[in-house]
Amino acid sequence: VTTYLAQTALVDGAPVRDLLLVADGGRFVDVRTAQPGDGDRGDVVRLGGVTLAGFANAHSHAFHRALRGRTHDRGGSFWTWRDDMYSLAAGLTPDLLYRLARATYAEMVLAGVTCVGEFHYVHHQPDGTPYDAPTTMSQAIAHAARDAGLRLTLLDVCYLAGGLDADGYRPVSSLQQRFSDGDAARWRERFETLAPSTGMLVGAAIHSVRATPPDAMSVVVEAAAGKPLHMHLSEQPAENRACQARFGRTPTELLADHGALGPRSTAVHATHLTAHDVALLGASRTTACVCPTTERDLADGIGPASALHDAGSPLAVGSDQHAVIDLVEEVRALEMHERLSSGERGRLSPVDLLAALTVHGHASLGWQDAGRLAVGMRADLVCLRTDTVRTAGCSPEQILLAATAADVDTVVVEDRVVVRGGRHESLDVATELQSSITDAWSAARAQIAR
Ligand SMILES: [Zn+2]
Repeated sequence: VTTYLAQTALVDGAPVRDLLLVADGGRFVDVRTAQPGDGDRGDVVRLGGVTLAGFANAHSHAFHRALRGRTHDRGGSFWTWRDDMYSLAAGLTPDLLYRLARATYAEMVLAGVTCVGEFHYVHHQPDGTPYDAPTTMSQAIAHAARDAGLRLTLLDVCYLAGGLDADGYRPVSSLQQRFSDGDAARWRERFETLAPSTGMLVGAAIHSVRATPPDAMSVVVEAAAGKPLHMHLSEQPAENRACQARFGRTPTELLADHGALGPRSTAVHATHLTAHDVALLGASRTTACVCPTTERDLADGIGPASALHDAGSPLAVGSDQHAVIDLVEEVRALEMHERLSSGERGRLSPVDLLAALTVHGHASLGWQDAGRLAVGMRADLVCLRTDTVRTAGCSPEQILLAATAADVDTVVVEDRVVVRGGRHESLDVATELQSSITDAWSAARAQIAR
């Protein structure tokens, strides 16, 4: 049993002084305002600053971290960035993926993330041949999350086509073939070998209307019954044009036609939507996972986050390609991008932003029992310092409008301290990032030269 005493905590968005949190078996068993004398015991863990529930990063491609700070020299577009990403993916071995993902997930924990959703599509060997053990690459992801100290929802992606235009689906290219199972039945066969374990859930994913044809969408929806179902949606206008040209439907409408929307579903990006799309997503209670730092990095555009929120879609956030791993910045950008596009302030309140960062993000990943400071919930805690140059003087309830990942002091995942004093308890994260990124690019160059 561990007793934590938070100087100030945000409980469902409201600041509470001297909050006592007792954890047992990885969950909170008592949460209440401390009484005189509660803090006198020697074994009480005192938490300064502002304490929040654990953050969920609802959309990640861990290996994309190796692209950070390397794609800005030639301008380009989403599509040229994607070519760089395919080159990087070509060289990944199970060991390189493990090391890169472990370092990236450790960077996330330093930023307060206690659970990540990995949208995983590097399933096979570079030439498309399955590994002897079909779960080889997903095991690398699972071990990386375990060793970095956070929970994982492995979202196994059905990726079958190389693109979509008015004439239909193109076959996967040589650089995409390691993502594809060949057909939906073989995807499902491999998907059904994946099993949840301690700290890990399994969900399914439709890559996008570009890479997952409608008949395959139906297979994924069926396989995902009772589990989280994620999908990229309308990140770029070109995707919408191709879908309209081929099917006479928007991507949202096509996904709705095939049963892919609903309270266990999450649409990632949801950037270029019609009013009808927003109504479909909201009425079905589909979560919208917005990835603002990625969307601005890739010049995707600004999606209708507050319209989705008002229509009934819970909002979550993800760092996606990890141009930035700062989930506080990610939720702050939800509101800031709204201000830029609408000319209004306060479209999303600080309470809305906290919910996106914590309870909605966890629910999107299938962890309905995480993301709140309440009895029965998983004992995750994030302490933000209030004595830094960024946070000094700000109101606790508005801390998400001021802090950054650099202000994270302590992170507790299911009653285990993983970050203390802003440092990871078991990994030298910057060194691991440096070495794994260097090795991933060496392997990519060697594979491309082959
Ligand atoms: Zn993505």
